[in-house]
Amino acid sequence: MEFWMKRDHPNSDFCCVPKCAMSGKFNSAISFHHFPKDETLRKIWIRNVRRDNLVIKRTTTVCSRHFISTDVIQGGRQPLKEGAIPVLFAWNDYSLPASRPIHATIVKCKIYIFC
Ligand SMILES: [Zn+2]
Repeated sequence: MEFWMKRDHPNSDFCCVPKCAMSGKFNSAISFHHFPKDETLRKIWIRNVRRDNLVIKRTTTVCSRHFISTDVIQGGRQPLKEGAIPVLFAWNDYSLPASRPIHATIVKCKIYIFC
């Protein structure tokens, strides 16, 4: 009998980033952010997340671990600053390359490209 595992939490969020298993159920300090509606920004998010065949659904979110802390507004009405993009991942050890990003192209809103 494994009915106790029944998943009946339609609102529980989880992070779609590979190697990140953050779930809203386990950590209330983490917030979950939906993909932006803006096409350009959305594409950057998708590229940064590096997940193959990512299908964005209403429940697909990226957790606050992947944003630099100044982009996440704790307790704010808008949980993310405008133009915020996820840049911290397991593959860069959840840190930005020191003070100056290497090979970075900074256009409007900030775009970091890691090589
Ligand atoms: Zn995550």
